[in-house]
Amino acid sequence: MIKNSIVGYPRIGEQRELKKALELFWNKEIDFNELEDKAKELKKRHWNYQKDSNIELISSNDFSYYDNILDTSILLGAIPKRFRNLENEELYFAMARGNKNAVAMEMTKWFNTNYHYIVPELSLEDEYKLNSSKIINEYKEAKELGIKTKINLIGPFTYLSLAKRVDGGDCIELLAKIKPLYEELLQEISTLDDEIFVQIDEPIFSTDKNSKLLGLLKSTYEDFCQISANIKIIVTTYFDHSIEATKVLIHTPIYALGLDFISGKENLQSLELIKMSNKKLFAGVVNGKNIWKNDFEKTIQLLDNISNSILKDNIVISTSCSLLHVPYTLKYEEKLDTEIKSWLSFANEKLEEIRILSKIFFNQELTNEDKNEIEQNRKIHKDKKSSNKIHDMNVQNRIKNSSKFSRDGIFEERIKVQKEILKYPELTTTTIGSFPQTPEIRKARLEYKKGLIDKNSYEIKMKEYIDYSIKIQEELGLDILVHGEPERNDMVEYFGEQLKGYGFTQNAWVQSYGSRCVKPPFIYGDISRPKPMTVQWLKYAQSKTSKVVKGMLTGPVTILNWSFVRDDKERSEVATQIALAINDEIDDLQKNGIKIIQVDEAAFKEGYPLRDEKRVAYEKWAVESFKFAVSSADAKTQIHTHMCYSDFNDIIKTIEDMDADVISIETARSGNKLLKIFAKVGYKQEVGPGVYDIHSPRIPSVEEIEKQIKLLLEVLPKKQLWINPDCGLKTRKWEEVIPSLKNMVIAVNNIRKENG
Ligand code: GLN
Ligand code: ZN
Repeated sequence: MIKNSIVGYPRIGEQRELKKALELFWNKEIDFNELEDKAKELKKRHWNYQKDSNIELISSNDFSYYDNILDTSILLGAIPKRFRNLENEELYFAMARGNKNAVAMEMTKWFNTNYHYIVPELSLEDEYKLNSSKIINEYKEAKELGIKTKINLIGPFTYLSLAKRVDGGDCIELLAKIKPLYEELLQEISTLDDEIFVQIDEPIFSTDKNSKLLGLLKSTYEDFCQISANIKIIVTTYFDHSIEATKVLIHTPIYALGLDFISGKENLQSLELIKMSNKKLFAGVVNGKNIWKNDFEKTIQLLDNISNSILKDNIVISTSCSLLHVPYTLKYEEKLDTEIKSWLSFANEKLEEIRILSKIFFNQELTNEDKNEIEQNRKIHKDKKSSNKIHDMNVQNRIKNSSKFSRDGIFEERIKVQKEILKYPELTTTTIGSFPQTPEIRKARLEYKKGLIDKNSYEIKMKEYIDYSIKIQEELGLDILVHGEPERNDMVEYFGEQLKGYGFTQNAWVQSYGSRCVKPPFIYGDISRPKPMTVQWLKYAQSKTSKVVKGMLTGPVTILNWSFVRDDKERSEVATQIALAINDEIDDLQKNGIKIIQVDEAAFKEGYPLRDEKRVAYEKWAVESFKFAVSSADAKTQIHTHMCYSDFNDIIKTIEDMDADVISIETARSGNKLLKIFAKVGYKQEVGPGVYDIHSPRIPSVEEIEKQIKLLLEVLPKKQLWINPDCGLKTRKWEEVIPSLKNMVIAVNNIRKENG
C-alpha cells in the first residue's frame, strides 16, 4: 500500500546547476552531450533525495530542460510552422528562446504562481504526432537506478486551455486531435512495467474556466482508463479546489484523485463522494507553494479529519502541488538567524516532513530521532506564537488606532489644486521610473553590499547617475522627471531589505522561467519601517532641477504578491502593515518637497484568485490597502500608479476604486484597444497609456509614436492623457532610451502644434 508521494520536484538544481549548464550550452561552451550528462546527474540526485526520505512514489518527467508545457508540445508534435526546419535540441530551444529567423513562442504565468510556461500554438490544420522518447527514457533512467516512478503528464484539458489557436477558435475543439496521441502514449507506457502509475495534472479544473471542459471530462478519462488495466491514473489538481471535476471523475475508472487541501480547503466537501467511489486520495497537505515549516499537529488533525470519511488505506500523503515553486534546501543558509531559520522548510525539508507525517498518521514505529523531531516541531510552533521577532505591538496598535483609510476630498477637487501647483501641459510627458541599469551602478551596489566600498563612495556613484539622468531628461524636454532608480536592484527587494519583518536568503532560488531563477524575500513578522527608504534620493534629484521630480514607490499589493508571505496571518492583514510603511514614506516624501508620487502596483492583477467566488474578497482588501497606503498624501500631492499588463476589462471598476490621480499602463502593442474600456466606463482620472513597447531594443520612430498618440486621442480627450513608454526602462541601454524618448517628445510636440 503506497503511503506517500509528492506531486513533483524542482529541477534547476540546488546550486542552480541546470541553469549554469544551460547557459554554457547556449554560449556554445559545452555541447549537448555535456548538458545531458549534467541533467542525468541532477535527476539522479533528485530521485535519491526523495528515496532517502522514504518517498514511496517518486515522479519522472518532472524534469525539463526549459519548461514542461513546452515538453508537452514536443510530445504531441505541436511545432509552430516557423520552427519546422529544425529538430532535436535546436528545435526545442528555438521554440523557447527564438533564433535569428524565428521569434520565440510566447511565455506566460502558470496559474497564480511566478513560474512561466511556453504557450502552445495550435491550429486545426496542423498534424500532430506523438514523440514519447523523453518520457520513456526518463522512466528507464530511473528504473536503472532501482526506482519505479510514477510518470507525470500535463493533462489534455489543461494543455489545451493554456494554448492559443493561431487560426482563431477555441483550443478545446482540438481535443479530438490530441486525445488519440495521449492514448497512444498510454499504450506505450503500459508496456514499460507490470504495473505503472501515471499522474495526469489537470490544474485547469481548479479555475472557473471549466464549464465547457466538464462535459468532455468523463468520456476522455474513461477512454484513457480503457487503454490498459496495468496503468493506474492519478488525476491531480492544485492551487485551488476542484469540486466540480471531482464530481465527474469519481464516476470514471481512474485510480486516484490528487487534491490540494492547502489552497483548496473546499476539497474537504468532496470527501464523502470520494469515499463512495472507493478511490485513492492523494491528499496534498504539505504546502508546495510556501516556505514555512509544516505544523505536524495541525496536519495530523487535517489528515484525521480526512480519514473520518476516507479509509486510511486509501489515503496517500502528498504535497499540495509540485515543489517546483519552493527553493531546494536550507542547508546553504548560513546567515539566517537560527530562530527564523527554524520556522522554514524548503523542498528537501518538506520531503522529511512527509516522511514523518506518514509515520505518525499510519502508526509506524518512531525512532528516537523521529520523536525528537516531532517534539521540536511542536515546540517551534508554540514558541513562534510569542516570538518578539514576529509580534510588534507598536505596528498592531498603530493599525488598530488608524482612522484615515483613504485620501481627503474627491478626485475632481484634488486635480484642480494639483494642476494649479504642477502646471503641466496637456499630453504631459514622463517615464515610468527606472532608467538603464548600467554595469557601473550594478557594480557600485554590489561592492557596497559586500563592504568593498564605503557608504560615501557608493552615494557619490548613485548621485552621479541621478545627475546624469536629470540632465538627459531636461535636454530631452520631458515634462515630469524621475530619478531613475539606480539604487534599486529590484522593486520589491529594495523595500523588503529596509523593512523590519522581512527575511532574505543566500541561496533560495526558485525557477521563474527557463534558466531564470528568482530569490523571493519572505515576510515572517509584523512589518515596520525603521527609517525613510527613498527620501534622500528623491530629495537629491529634486534639488537638481526646477522641473517636478516624481517619487517612486512599490505598492503594498505588489510587495506582498512578490514575496513568500507568513502563514500565521491573513494576507489582507500583512498587506495593511506594508501599506502603513508606505503611508509613512509618502508623508515623508511630501514633507520633503516631492509633489508627485507614483506607487507601482505591477503585481496587482496576478494576485487575483483562480476562483471567482474568492475574487470579491481579494479586490476588497487589495484596493483598501492601496488606498490606505496613499491616504497620507495631501490633496495637493498627486498620486500615480502603474500597472504593466494590458487587459483591464474585467478589473476596471476596481482600478477606478483605487482612486489614483493618474495611472500609467501598458498599451503600445495593442493600439488603443485596451484603452477603450476606460472610456466605456467613464473613467474620470488621468491615464498614461504606453506609447511604445520597452521590451524590445527597437527605437520607435516619430511617425509611429504620433500614430499611437492619435489612436489614444480617439478614445480619451487630451486633457485626460499622459504620454509615456509602456513600462520602466531599466532593461534597456541609454543608446536605446535617449533616441526613443527624443522621438516621443517630438511626436507629442507635433501633435500639440497640430491641435493648436
Ligand atoms: N517603477 C518601476 C520601473 O520603472 C516599475 C516597474 C514595473 O512596473 N515592473 O522599473
Ligand atoms: Zn510596468
